[in-house]
Amino acid sequence: VELGERLRAAAPPATATPRIYAVASGKGGVGKSTVTANLAVALAASGQRVGVLDADVWGYSIPQLFGVHRTPVALGGVMLPVQAHGVALISTGFFVADGTPVVWRGPMLHKALQQFLTDVAWGGLDVLLLDLPPGTGDITMSLLELVPDAALLAVTTPQAAARTVATRVGRMAREAGMPIAGVVENMSASVCAGCGEHTAVFGSGGGDQLAAEVDAPLLGQVPLDIELRAAGDRGRPVVLDSPAAASAVELTRIATAL
Ligand code: ADP
Repeated sequence: VELGERLRAAAPPATATPRIYAVASGKGGVGKSTVTANLAVALAASGQRVGVLDADVWGYSIPQLFGVHRTPVALGGVMLPVQAHGVALISTGFFVADGTPVVWRGPMLHKALQQFLTDVAWGGLDVLLLDLPPGTGDITMSLLELVPDAALLAVTTPQAAARTVATRVGRMAREAGMPIAGVVENMSASVCAGCGEHTAVFGSGGGDQLAAEVDAPLLGQVPLDIELRAAGDRGRPVVLDSPAAASAVELTRIATAL
């Protein structure tokens, strides 16, 4: 039997409709994109066909996190997603030269997102992750309309300032009828590799409280981890780059729940 045939046989069949998760946060900088990238790579490593749609059109960071900057090929009216680390990717970052600000306004953004959803040849996907911009702005609202069958994955740090704004996104999703798959607490207490001491730089309790407020499970707590940050900067998500790192172990565990 040819290798290609054996590989196809080994891969699980793509489901007719992929599971879609909209990864959201109340504010920027809480690690939403980092969590998205790592969950995607962990899911792909488990044999699933995974796509990431970077809907953070102004603050896109998916190209950097995956270490790719390539313009998607257009073929017969559709775009082929860019492949990296076993994941299919589409991002506005692929269409602008590095450092060029994205200055699109609402209607154009809505159109771009619509195109990303309809004109991208994703192939058969098992899971699609949408990396939303932070907050409850236009794009979040557009996506709730465009992808009604998505489930929300809310990312927060343990800090109250991040949790209270994430609650608003959760409420917005609920009002739009979107189910909430769960909460990921990121930047939780770091563990000293030398002495094992826990340091809660951003405090504690944000994930638990958000989960209670939006009535969804807390899927995991990803520690503040220098390895995760360094891996992201290298364009190789930590679950791939340093799978034994504490953050990688937890992110891989969270992916199995999706
Ligand atoms: P967001 O998408 O919420 O704006 P990012 O994913 O871009 O946030 O993360 C913001 C910064 O924090 C990045 O520099 C990233 O490397 C870093 N970071 C995210 N999560 C962690 C973590 N658990 N430990 C250490 N650094 C992290």
